[in-house]
Amino acid sequence: MLEINHPSIDIDLRYATPDNITGRPIYARAVALLHPDAHAALLRAANLAEGQGLCLRIYDAYRPSAAQQRLWEALANPVFVADPSRGSTHSRGVAVDLTLTDATGEPLEMGTGFDAMVPQSYHARTDIPVEAQRNRAVLLGIMTAAGWAHEPHEWWHYNLPDPLRYPLLDDVATVARLMGD
Ligand SMILES: [Zn+2]
Repeated sequence: MLEINHPSIDIDLRYATPDNITGRPIYARAVALLHPDAHAALLRAANLAEGQGLCLRIYDAYRPSAAQQRLWEALANPVFVADPSRGSTHSRGVAVDLTLTDATGEPLEMGTGFDAMVPQSYHARTDIPVEAQRNRAVLLGIMTAAGWAHEPHEWWHYNLPDPLRYPLLDDVATVARLMGD
């Protein structure tokens, strides 16, 4: 697992703060980790974004199964939260939740916030502002060109194609990097 540390990638791990759907921190610290394959794909995306004067802002990356369990307990909605018994793509280290920011660090308008569990968070919605539709299309283009697959119900979520070929990663040392005291 590699930590995301790049000048044009901003780390804003919401589950390390109370600013998330559970209302309390789930991670002890904001360490954004990815499988090396996903890490390489994210750097490709960051370079594409940079060429357009944009940056990536990461809301979540690797998510231990124990954290997935807590999310599920807070909001057991299978459209938006993967059942822990099946395993999230985040717990395999091959998923990211993210948005785009402009040169001043301001997030682009995307129509809904991260983790907004409403139909307007789905891709291809026309009942959000045109600017937001365009910004989502820019993010979709950057991420797809960089080798990521989109999630139809969450504009902010991308994972590597065929993610189940990657194992769940829950070794003690890796989990402790986020959740340890
Ligand atoms: Zn996600």
